[in-house]
Amino acid sequence: MLIIRCAKCKSKIMKYNKVGHGSILKCYFNRIEKKFVNTESDLRCTCGNKIGIKKDQYYKMIGKSFIYSGKIN
Ligand SMILES: [Zn+2]
Repeated sequence: MLIIRCAKCKSKIMKYNKVGHGSILKCYFNRIEKKFVNTESDLRCTCGNKIGIKKDQYYKMIGKSFIYSGKIN
């Protein structure tokens, strides 16, 4: 499980269950364990930093706008 945080203010954005190695380019909705921000559209931190762009089944993650910690399953 990964904790994804805003790169600017370090707020928690979501818990994500990533499968496979490599960088985080997409976050699929069905693997999001918990979302700490309240959004129905693009993924945006409370500080205003845009983290991801909403697509049909995933967020297209914006590199350098987030950091993460935790283990990749
Ligand atoms: Zn932020």
